[in-house]
Amino acid sequence: MIKILLATRNKGKVDEFRHALQGLPYEVLTALDFPELPEVDEDQHTLEGNALKKAQMLYEATGIFSMADDTGLEVGALNGAPGVYSARYAGEKATYAENRQKMLCELVGEENRAAQFRTVIAYYTGKVAFFEGICVGQITHVEIGAGGFGYDPIFMPNGYDLTFAQMTTEEKNKISHRGMAFRKFLDFLANEATV
Ligand code: IMP
Repeated sequence: MIKILLATRNKGKVDEFRHALQGLPYEVLTALDFPELPEVDEDQHTLEGNALKKAQMLYEATGIFSMADDTGLEVGALNGAPGVYSARYAGEKATYAENRQKMLCELVGEENRAAQFRTVIAYYTGKVAFFEGICVGQITHVEIGAGGFGYDPIFMPNGYDLTFAQMTTEEKNKISHRGMAFRKFLDFLANEATV
């Protein structure tokens, strides 16, 4: 068995990942299995930088192959902002609702609503491999829907009449940035396991 350490403490993500790797020779561990590890400061200026920093720190502390992800919302009319700063767009301790309100305010009167979510996964084994997932869409004019988290109520993926906040988790995962990056990573692991 090859051990893989996930940087996340989110149980939902971990269960999904373990499920997807069933039948393959991987044992999935998480940051929860190493409570003594410090939180990593996500202070890099790119998604790649933050994902790599987290994965590399875990690998160096444990010696176990490690993966970490980072996600940002990139808005065309804002020259790609907030991007890597999405979590603290409206301030250091901003809530999801405050971030959404700021976004809607910034885009008042703006016709170009094009935006994309981008997820980067870094897998560190002594060297790094990156996996990227992108979901393109539009920022709505008002919040629509009560599900999901973060910017979901104001993001409508292209080709859909629903925001992410109106979709079930399953529907969202099928087309989402994170879903796409995770599937690429899983394909890579499945391939590695058979060579
Ligand atoms: P993280 O890298 O997954 O922690 O994401 C950084 C920030 O991007 C979060 O705090 C959210 O505001 C936003 N975000 C990430 N993924 C999503 C998503 O799938 N839907 C809506 N917002 C998201």
